[in-house]
Amino acid sequence: MKQLLTAATLLCTLSVTAQQAKNVGLSAIKIADLQRDLYALADDHFRGREAGTQDELDAAAWLAEQARQIGLQPAGDNGTYFQYFPLIRDRVSSESQIILHHKPLELWKDVIVFEPVHAQVNAPLIFLNGLQDIDTADVKGKAVILRFSPEGITNPMIKSLRRYATLIIRDRVKRLAGKGPAAIVFVSDSTASQDWARSLEYADRGTYHMDGGYFNSIIVKDIPLLWINDPSLITQDSNNQTLVANIVTDHFIYPSVNVVAKQEGSDATLKSEYVLFSGHIDHDGVRHLAPGADSIYNGADDNATVDVALLAAGRAFKKQPGRRSVLFVFHGAEERGLYGSTWFAAHPTVPKAAIVSVLNGDMIGRNNIDSAALLGVNPPHRNSKDLVSVALAANAAGPHFKLDTTWDNPQQIEGWYFRSDHLPYARAGIPSIFFTTLLHPDYHTVRDDASRINYQKLTKMTQWLYLTARTLADQDARPAVDAGFRL
Ligand SMILES: [Zn+2]
Repeated sequence: MKQLLTAATLLCTLSVTAQQAKNVGLSAIKIADLQRDLYALADDHFRGREAGTQDELDAAAWLAEQARQIGLQPAGDNGTYFQYFPLIRDRVSSESQIILHHKPLELWKDVIVFEPVHAQVNAPLIFLNGLQDIDTADVKGKAVILRFSPEGITNPMIKSLRRYATLIIRDRVKRLAGKGPAAIVFVSDSTASQDWARSLEYADRGTYHMDGGYFNSIIVKDIPLLWINDPSLITQDSNNQTLVANIVTDHFIYPSVNVVAKQEGSDATLKSEYVLFSGHIDHDGVRHLAPGADSIYNGADDNATVDVALLAAGRAFKKQPGRRSVLFVFHGAEERGLYGSTWFAAHPTVPKAAIVSVLNGDMIGRNNIDSAALLGVNPPHRNSKDLVSVALAANAAGPHFKLDTTWDNPQQIEGWYFRSDHLPYARAGIPSIFFTTLLHPDYHTVRDDASRINYQKLTKMTQWLYLTARTLADQDARPAVDAGFRL
């Protein structure tokens, strides 16, 4: 705190009053609050807050109650803290049957059905070796058997284990789908085999959709895409082999929810404009139960850190309101495809034109205490130079992080910019940036627990978010969108 005040006094452009306002707010951000709230929200009690489950709704109710206790007003639908939206899930049913050359395969053990599909197949097998076969063979009405292989794929992301299987599946489907195969069956090579367990976890829970969501597109309709991990289940040399399958998909609609709270501004005119803080409620829930092992993905860093930072910023703005109003949006269903933010950006509870900026955070409590990252800071992802300079000045006045600003490079293998809740707002033409302390080995594992958070760092990140919002709430002008911005 001492260092903060010393650095802040160097900001001679600020009036004494604005500086005092900042300090009053800063004094309301307390490490003890952040720690207490984080242990509560990332507790096993909420069972990993999976989107579209009772656990997510319970966590949403808890956040709304914290906002109420802080004294923030409800700003969701119909005078409540909540904005519900429908989340659609399609999942291959366990009733499905897959028989490869008279041998029944066990779904999710011997075989992954990569995407939900309704299909009845009774087709001869055709084995394709290599690209030349793929591009020339007559596959009409046949079940194609292919080994995973990166042959012919130039996309640099092929080097990422997490993308390997998907990129190959997409490429081969593109080459084959138009030729009318009855099914496409992939067989692991050593690289794909390492990704089997993770892909299984995603595939067996199905795909999530929302009208207007970004991740609605499935790779191909009507052609079953199967993945067999154990090559010994395939015998290449016998003739007259068949695939017989009856694949059924279950369809569900679940409620998910955004929690929305506000602190009204003090200026008679500017209070009709909003600085929007964004985080997400949900994480990955309870995955495969292993006896005696932890199976709950508590998502302490991802994204309980940001939820509790927003509560702390709420206390700061409650204590010292800005001239503009501040909106706190805790999004649902981020992990399933940015659905809460997509919904809110399309159905904002305040006029869209009144949102002056979006400050999104995702994972802000790990890695070196002196470093952090800001995304949306460089082209092609920067959509507001004005907003970026406010955030950079806030860092210089406050926490002094050494900033990693390289994540906007389009060659960045993780595509990180496209994976959090600022995206739908940026696409909607609202100045938006993304604060994070980046990936770590516990990312999306059962080890992302409250005990592994660096609370001093989380406090510094919260101060940075707050100081950025403080300037945006108090300065006369609102940030402009860069001319010609397009994602
Ligand atoms: Zn996240």
